[in-house]
Amino acid sequence: MSAPTLPVVPHWIDGAEVPSASGRTAPVYDPALGIATKEVGLADAAELERAIASANAAFPAWRDLSLAKRQSVLFAFRELLNARKGELAEIITEEHGKVLSDALGEITRGQEVVEFATGLAHHLKGEYSEQVSTGIDVYSARQPLGAVAIISPFNFPAMVPAWFFPIAIAAGNTVILKPSEKDPSAAIWLAKLWREAGLPDGVFTVLQGDREAVDGLLTSPDVRAISFVGSTPVARHVYETGTAHGKRVQALGGAKNHMLVLPDADLDLVADSAVNAGFGSAGERCMAISVIVAVEPVADALVAKISDRMRGLRVGDGRRSCDMGPLVTEQHRDRVAGYIDIAERDGATIAVDGRGIQVDGDPRGFWLGPTLLDNVPTTSRAYTEEIFGPVLSIVRVPSYDAGVAVINAVPFGNGTAIFTNDGGAARRFQNEIQVGMIGVNVPIPVPTATFSFGGWKDSLFGDSRAHGAEGVRFFTQEKVITSRWLDPSHGGINLGFPEND
Ligand code: NAD
Repeated sequence: MSAPTLPVVPHWIDGAEVPSASGRTAPVYDPALGIATKEVGLADAAELERAIASANAAFPAWRDLSLAKRQSVLFAFRELLNARKGELAEIITEEHGKVLSDALGEITRGQEVVEFATGLAHHLKGEYSEQVSTGIDVYSARQPLGAVAIISPFNFPAMVPAWFFPIAIAAGNTVILKPSEKDPSAAIWLAKLWREAGLPDGVFTVLQGDREAVDGLLTSPDVRAISFVGSTPVARHVYETGTAHGKRVQALGGAKNHMLVLPDADLDLVADSAVNAGFGSAGERCMAISVIVAVEPVADALVAKISDRMRGLRVGDGRRSCDMGPLVTEQHRDRVAGYIDIAERDGATIAVDGRGIQVDGDPRGFWLGPTLLDNVPTTSRAYTEEIFGPVLSIVRVPSYDAGVAVINAVPFGNGTAIFTNDGGAARRFQNEIQVGMIGVNVPIPVPTATFSFGGWKDSLFGDSRAHGAEGVRFFTQEKVITSRWLDPSHGGINLGFPEND
């Protein structure tokens, strides 16, 4: 008997689904069932060209539409998203594995950026200086770039694209979204929602694909800017290639987020926060806490409290009433489990072992239970590399200064947190720590949409972060206009450089 034919997730070009004809596909898994339930078409050069041509053809009319009309589409999109986000959450859980409540949470954070973009007219306002020279006024305007591309990772199939596309579209650009091939269906659902909201065809395109599609977008002269989110090696490649081809690039990379716990902290609050931030979404979050830096003498008490809470976590199919779902693929699960073996070999203590855990779900699923590693040597690859799974490490240090030194030595600089009841220590920490987003008694300090999201060091290549003021700047370019309306007194020949008088 031949294997059943799986549905193939299409592209979205010119306001309609377009089946891929490239002949290349990738499997899309239901991670809780451990089986491929779909395939996704991977774009070839012809499909790439078609997507880019469509986005460029749609640009002039969208750019020239009044701000009021563009914003009315944003408002309609926001209302539809808010009313129907449950549908999108189910798609995310089916392909990513995160529990439904967590999928809803990521949509809500993405929706915040849509709401920010409904007020974009305010952020696009230029400046005006009257009579800078006799009879001369100077003013500025922010204008869209053209067709821009968003390349997103598997772990937030709705929120990460939504960090960028609402602002890009509201500002008058057209967008090509290249989602992760691991969970490609959310993008198609969003494209259909845009059409329902009244967005003209070609303004939002979805190009399914892998490295071939990404490299095509990076090198095409007809793509003006790239917003990338993914692992650090790929972010570096995207930044270097995109900028070498004359584009604006913001490339957000990987992370290894540390939580510094001072001896005066409320250890119950710390343990709750560590478990939530370490194991939510099975640790597949760029802002997950992956290392606790415990300033002695708190480590033993903290290990006991965290272990206790971890034993109560229900791991299983995200569609059931569970706390934590599976990992995204079998390969990723095995890679993450491999880091537990490495840590063990390098001398760490396994306080809670997630290997071989009992789950509320199909035995074929890509399961790995929450794991707590104590006394992790900072030379171990389990410490130096990003794990991106449900593995929380504890590093013990003798003092606040030693803790700060540990965190500042890490090449990543996405997020960090301090837990303390000492305001002075917290204030010193926010000043001294070399990380882009800092939580004070907040374990996952993801800024709201009105601020900008992005890390330092190897967690961000480029000088623009996502959303907020930097997002608006990234998707627009400023023009400055110097204007004089002539009257007869302005006559006369003068070849000198214009001076103000
Ligand atoms: P990934 O780097 O494997 O993939 C990201 C995107 O790049 C995908 O669309 C993928 O198709 C494409 N891609 C993969 N390999 C490529 C290559 N060699 N050349 C060109 N394109 C390529 O990342 P992932 O596994 O999907 O996502 C997890 C990673 O993303 C983690 O490292 C995580 O920390 C990071 N992340 C960072 C942030 C942040 O804000 N800094 C947010 C979310 C995720």
